[in-house]
Amino acid sequence: MSFRIRHCVECPQCHTWYLVGFSPYRNRAYLVRTGTRSFDEYTLYCFCQGADSPNVCRWAEAKACEVSKSAHQRGYGALDEIWLLERGSREASVDISRYLHLQR
Ligand SMILES: [Zn+2]
Repeated sequence: MSFRIRHCVECPQCHTWYLVGFSPYRNRAYLVRTGTRSFDEYTLYCFCQGADSPNVCRWAEAKACEVSKSAHQRGYGALDEIWLLERGSREASVDISRYLHLQR
């Protein structure tokens, strides 16, 4: 398995992680950049609550995540496909220090 480091935004309802730059997504969710400050912030529209009323998550902060190949091809993924780097993992197979240049 190969992994990539990407910035992702999480839907707080269904805990799906969306990769920044892949919007709109195949499940109709989409991401709008709203950040005006020094870090990236987004508004996420996720249809996990039903097709008619998107779950709107405002000011979601993009976070550096380790993304599996399948999730990267899809543009989003579940918790078992995308791992938040800052959360830390004892089983991490990737040396996180190699990716510190991605963090601001
Ligand atoms: Zn959702």
